Amino acid sequence: MDQNSLSALAADLTSGAVRIVDLSVTLSSQTPILVLPEEFGWGKSWPFSKEEISRYDERGPAWYWNNICCGEHTGTHFDAPIHWVTGKDHQHHATDTLPVENFVAPCVVIDAVAESQADPDFLMTVDFVKQWESEHGEIPRGAWVLYHTDWSKRESASDFLNRDSDGLHNPGWDPATVIFLAEERQIIGVGTETVGTDAGQASAQEPQFPCHNLMHGANKCGLASLANLDQLPPTGAILIAAPLKIEEGSGSPCRVLALVGASDQ
Ligand code: MN
Repeated sequence: MDQNSLSALAADLTSGAVRIVDLSVTLSSQTPILVLPEEFGWGKSWPFSKEEISRYDERGPAWYWNNICCGEHTGTHFDAPIHWVTGKDHQHHATDTLPVENFVAPCVVIDAVAESQADPDFLMTVDFVKQWESEHGEIPRGAWVLYHTDWSKRESASDFLNRDSDGLHNPGWDPATVIFLAEERQIIGVGTETVGTDAGQASAQEPQFPCHNLMHGANKCGLASLANLDQLPPTGAILIAAPLKIEEGSGSPCRVLALVGASDQ
Protein backbone atom coordinates (compact mmCIF):
# COMPACT_ATOMS: atom_id res chain seq x y z
CA MET A 1 0.00 0.00 0.00
CA ASP A 2 1.46 3.35 -0.95
CA GLN A 3 0.86 6.74 0.55
CA ASN A 4 -2.02 7.40 -1.86
CA SER A 5 -3.79 4.21 -0.78
CA LEU A 6 -3.54 5.18 2.87
CA SER A 7 -4.72 8.70 2.12
CA ALA A 8 -7.68 7.29 0.23
CA LEU A 9 -8.48 4.95 3.10
CA ALA A 10 -8.26 7.79 5.60
CA ALA A 11 -10.66 9.87 3.50
CA ASP A 12 -13.03 6.93 3.12
CA LEU A 13 -13.03 6.29 6.86
CA THR A 14 -13.78 9.93 7.55
CA SER A 15 -16.54 10.15 4.95
CA GLY A 16 -18.12 6.84 5.89
CA ALA A 17 -17.39 5.31 2.49
CA VAL A 18 -15.61 2.63 4.50
CA ARG A 19 -17.59 1.46 7.51
CA ILE A 20 -16.29 -0.41 10.57
CA VAL A 21 -18.30 -3.43 11.72
CA ASP A 22 -17.81 -4.84 15.20
CA LEU A 23 -17.58 -8.64 15.03
CA SER A 24 -17.14 -9.07 18.80
CA VAL A 25 -19.47 -10.13 21.59
CA THR A 26 -19.57 -8.34 24.92
CA LEU A 27 -17.52 -9.99 27.65
CA SER A 28 -19.54 -10.55 30.81
CA SER A 29 -20.00 -13.19 33.48
CA GLN A 30 -22.72 -14.64 31.24
CA THR A 31 -20.47 -15.10 28.19
CA PRO A 32 -20.70 -18.80 27.24
CA ILE A 33 -17.45 -20.76 27.41
CA LEU A 34 -16.35 -24.25 26.50
CA VAL A 35 -16.36 -26.76 29.31
CA LEU A 36 -13.90 -29.61 28.91
CA PRO A 37 -15.16 -33.18 29.37
CA GLU A 38 -15.37 -34.85 32.75
CA GLU A 39 -12.12 -36.80 32.30
CA PHE A 40 -10.33 -33.45 32.15
CA GLY A 41 -12.04 -32.20 35.27
CA TRP A 42 -14.89 -30.43 33.44
CA GLY A 43 -12.43 -27.80 32.39
CA LYS A 44 -10.65 -25.20 34.42
CA SER A 45 -11.19 -22.31 32.06
CA TRP A 46 -12.41 -19.36 34.09
CA PRO A 47 -15.48 -17.53 32.86
CA PHE A 48 -15.06 -13.80 32.49
CA SER A 49 -15.37 -11.91 35.74
CA LYS A 50 -14.50 -8.47 36.93
CA GLU A 51 -13.94 -7.07 40.37
CA GLU A 52 -14.26 -3.39 41.00
CA ILE A 53 -11.14 -1.75 42.41
CA SER A 54 -12.67 1.70 42.74
CA ARG A 55 -15.39 3.82 41.20
CA TYR A 56 -15.02 7.48 42.15
CA ASP A 57 -15.37 6.56 45.81
CA GLU A 58 -13.36 6.12 48.97
CA ARG A 59 -11.28 3.47 47.25
CA GLY A 60 -10.26 5.98 44.58
CA PRO A 61 -12.15 9.25 44.32
CA ALA A 62 -11.21 10.17 40.76
CA TRP A 63 -10.90 6.83 39.04
CA TYR A 64 -12.86 3.76 38.00
CA TRP A 65 -11.14 0.50 37.17
CA ASN A 66 -11.57 -3.24 37.54
CA ASN A 67 -9.54 -6.36 37.91
CA ILE A 68 -10.56 -8.80 35.22
CA CYS A 69 -10.14 -12.54 34.97
CA CYS A 70 -10.87 -15.17 32.31
CA GLY A 71 -9.41 -18.06 30.37
CA GLU A 72 -7.58 -17.22 27.15
CA HIS A 73 -10.40 -18.80 25.13
CA THR A 74 -13.31 -16.70 26.34
CA GLY A 75 -15.88 -14.85 24.27
CA THR A 76 -14.73 -13.52 20.91
CA HIS A 77 -11.18 -14.80 20.91
CA PHE A 78 -8.10 -15.68 18.93
CA ASP A 79 -6.61 -19.19 18.73
CA ALA A 80 -2.86 -19.21 18.10
CA PRO A 81 -1.22 -22.32 16.55
CA ILE A 82 0.46 -23.15 19.86
CA HIS A 83 -3.06 -23.82 21.25
CA TRP A 84 -2.98 -27.36 19.83
CA VAL A 85 -0.37 -30.07 20.28
CA THR A 86 -0.05 -30.33 16.49
CA GLY A 87 1.10 -26.71 16.40
CA LYS A 88 3.45 -26.80 19.37
CA ASP A 89 6.72 -26.99 17.42
CA HIS A 90 6.11 -24.20 14.90
CA GLN A 91 8.05 -20.96 14.97
CA HIS A 92 6.25 -17.71 15.82
CA HIS A 93 3.14 -19.60 16.89
CA ALA A 94 2.07 -17.82 20.09
CA THR A 95 0.19 -14.61 20.77
CA ASP A 96 3.40 -12.65 21.36
CA THR A 97 5.34 -14.02 18.39
CA LEU A 98 2.80 -14.39 15.57
CA PRO A 99 3.61 -12.10 12.64
CA VAL A 100 1.43 -9.01 12.98
CA GLU A 101 0.53 -9.31 9.29
CA ASN A 102 -1.90 -12.01 10.43
CA PHE A 103 -3.84 -9.44 12.41
CA VAL A 104 -4.91 -7.19 9.51
CA ALA A 105 -5.91 -9.10 6.40
CA PRO A 106 -8.67 -9.63 3.85
CA CYS A 107 -11.53 -11.92 4.74
CA VAL A 108 -14.11 -13.92 2.84
CA VAL A 109 -17.45 -14.90 4.31
CA ILE A 110 -19.02 -18.23 3.39
CA ASP A 111 -22.76 -18.33 3.95
CA ALA A 112 -23.96 -21.57 5.52
CA VAL A 113 -26.91 -20.09 7.40
CA ALA A 114 -29.60 -22.25 5.79
CA GLU A 115 -27.55 -25.42 6.17
CA SER A 116 -26.79 -24.68 9.84
CA GLN A 117 -30.42 -23.99 10.59
CA ALA A 118 -31.48 -27.22 8.90
CA ASP A 119 -28.76 -29.27 10.61
CA PRO A 120 -26.91 -28.02 13.71
CA ASP A 121 -24.25 -30.67 13.08
CA PHE A 122 -23.63 -29.43 9.51
CA LEU A 123 -20.05 -29.98 8.34
CA MET A 124 -18.73 -27.75 5.57
CA THR A 125 -17.29 -29.80 2.71
CA VAL A 126 -14.70 -28.96 0.05
CA ASP A 127 -17.47 -29.08 -2.55
CA PHE A 128 -19.41 -26.49 -0.54
CA VAL A 129 -16.37 -24.18 -0.57
CA LYS A 130 -15.79 -24.76 -4.27
CA GLN A 131 -19.43 -23.94 -5.00
CA TRP A 132 -18.93 -20.69 -3.08
CA GLU A 133 -15.76 -20.03 -5.11
CA SER A 134 -17.65 -20.60 -8.36
CA GLU A 135 -19.84 -17.63 -7.41
CA HIS A 136 -17.35 -15.36 -5.67
CA GLY A 137 -13.91 -16.30 -6.98
CA GLU A 138 -11.06 -18.26 -5.49
CA ILE A 139 -10.28 -17.59 -1.85
CA PRO A 140 -7.15 -15.41 -1.93
CA ARG A 141 -3.96 -16.57 -0.28
CA GLY A 142 -3.48 -14.86 3.08
CA ALA A 143 -7.18 -14.33 3.81
CA TRP A 144 -9.31 -15.20 6.78
CA VAL A 145 -12.26 -17.49 6.02
CA LEU A 146 -15.33 -16.65 8.10
CA TYR A 147 -18.04 -19.26 8.54
CA HIS A 148 -21.39 -17.49 8.56
CA THR A 149 -24.09 -19.46 10.37
CA ASP A 150 -26.02 -16.81 12.32
CA TRP A 151 -25.18 -18.95 15.37
CA SER A 152 -24.31 -15.74 17.23
CA LYS A 153 -27.99 -14.79 17.09
CA ARG A 154 -28.79 -17.53 19.60
CA GLU A 155 -29.34 -15.35 22.64
CA SER A 156 -29.30 -17.74 25.59
CA ALA A 157 -26.18 -19.66 26.57
CA SER A 158 -28.09 -22.94 26.40
CA ASP A 159 -29.27 -22.26 22.83
CA PHE A 160 -25.78 -21.11 21.88
CA LEU A 161 -23.97 -24.15 23.30
CA ASN A 162 -26.85 -26.44 22.24
CA ARG A 163 -25.84 -29.28 24.52
CA ASP A 164 -27.70 -32.56 24.88
CA SER A 165 -26.73 -35.95 26.28
CA ASP A 166 -24.25 -36.42 23.37
CA GLY A 167 -22.52 -33.13 24.05
CA LEU A 168 -22.59 -29.94 22.00
CA HIS A 169 -24.22 -29.55 18.63
CA ASN A 170 -23.00 -26.78 16.36
CA PRO A 171 -21.70 -26.64 12.78
CA GLY A 172 -18.10 -27.39 11.88
CA TRP A 173 -15.82 -28.74 9.23
CA ASP A 174 -15.28 -31.84 7.22
CA PRO A 175 -11.56 -32.53 7.86
CA ALA A 176 -10.77 -32.43 4.12
CA THR A 177 -12.05 -28.84 4.03
CA VAL A 178 -9.58 -27.76 6.69
CA ILE A 179 -6.71 -29.34 4.73
CA PHE A 180 -7.96 -27.71 1.51
CA LEU A 181 -8.13 -24.25 3.07
CA ALA A 182 -4.80 -24.54 4.87
CA GLU A 183 -2.76 -26.14 2.11
CA GLU A 184 -4.40 -25.26 -1.21
CA ARG A 185 -5.63 -21.81 -0.30
CA GLN A 186 -2.96 -20.89 2.28
CA ILE A 187 -5.40 -18.93 4.41
CA ILE A 188 -4.43 -17.26 7.69
CA GLY A 189 -7.15 -19.13 9.53
CA VAL A 190 -10.86 -19.57 9.97
CA GLY A 191 -13.37 -17.69 12.10
CA THR A 192 -16.66 -19.05 13.38
CA GLU A 193 -19.69 -17.76 15.25
CA THR A 194 -19.69 -20.77 17.56
CA VAL A 195 -17.99 -21.20 20.95
CA GLY A 196 -14.97 -22.81 19.29
CA THR A 197 -13.77 -23.27 15.72
CA ASP A 198 -14.78 -26.94 15.55
CA ALA A 199 -18.12 -28.71 15.37
CA GLY A 200 -19.86 -29.46 18.64
CA GLN A 201 -19.43 -33.16 17.89
CA ALA A 202 -15.79 -32.80 16.81
CA SER A 203 -14.48 -35.17 19.46
CA ALA A 204 -16.13 -37.95 17.40
CA GLN A 205 -14.48 -36.86 14.12
CA GLU A 206 -11.30 -38.32 12.65
CA PRO A 207 -9.00 -36.69 13.50
CA GLN A 208 -10.63 -35.41 16.66
CA PHE A 209 -11.24 -31.65 16.57
CA PRO A 210 -10.09 -31.46 12.93
CA CYS A 211 -10.04 -27.68 12.70
CA HIS A 212 -7.80 -27.37 15.74
CA ASN A 213 -5.71 -30.41 14.81
CA LEU A 214 -5.15 -29.61 11.14
CA MET A 215 -5.36 -25.81 11.09
CA HIS A 216 -2.95 -25.31 13.98
CA GLY A 217 -0.87 -28.20 12.66
CA ALA A 218 -0.44 -26.08 9.53
CA ASN A 219 0.55 -23.06 11.69
CA LYS A 220 -2.76 -21.33 10.96
CA CYS A 221 -4.97 -19.44 13.38
CA GLY A 222 -8.57 -19.37 14.53
CA LEU A 223 -11.25 -16.97 15.70
CA ALA A 224 -14.32 -18.06 17.64
CA SER A 225 -17.54 -16.51 18.94
CA LEU A 226 -17.69 -13.92 16.18
CA ALA A 227 -20.86 -11.90 15.66
CA ASN A 228 -22.42 -9.71 12.98
CA LEU A 229 -21.09 -11.73 10.06
CA ASP A 230 -24.43 -10.97 8.37
CA GLN A 231 -23.15 -7.39 7.97
CA LEU A 232 -20.19 -8.43 5.82
CA PRO A 233 -20.00 -8.92 2.06
CA PRO A 234 -18.82 -12.32 0.76
CA THR A 235 -15.55 -10.75 -0.37
CA GLY A 236 -13.83 -7.39 -0.07
CA ALA A 237 -13.80 -6.74 3.67
CA ILE A 238 -10.62 -6.32 5.74
CA LEU A 239 -10.45 -8.07 9.10
CA ILE A 240 -8.63 -6.65 12.11
CA ALA A 241 -8.12 -9.19 14.91
CA ALA A 242 -5.17 -8.82 17.25
CA PRO A 243 -4.80 -10.96 20.37
CA LEU A 244 -3.32 -9.55 23.55
CA LYS A 245 0.46 -9.86 23.49
CA ILE A 246 0.57 -12.49 26.22
CA GLU A 247 3.98 -14.13 26.57
CA GLU A 248 3.61 -17.63 25.07
CA GLY A 249 -0.16 -17.15 25.04
CA SER A 250 -2.31 -19.79 23.36
CA GLY A 251 -4.91 -17.20 22.48
CA SER A 252 -6.77 -14.29 23.97
CA PRO A 253 -10.07 -12.51 23.92
CA CYS A 254 -9.90 -9.81 21.29
CA ARG A 255 -11.94 -7.09 19.68
CA VAL A 256 -12.48 -8.16 16.09
CA LEU A 257 -13.39 -5.48 13.57
CA ALA A 258 -14.02 -5.46 9.82
CA LEU A 259 -13.58 -2.63 7.34
CA VAL A 260 -16.38 -2.75 4.79
CA GLY A 261 -16.97 -0.58 1.76
CA ALA A 262 -20.29 1.19 2.21
CA SER A 263 -21.37 0.09 -1.28
CA ASP A 264 -20.72 -3.54 -0.26
CA GLN A 265 -23.59 -3.75 2.22
MN1 MN B 1 -10.17 -21.13 21.37
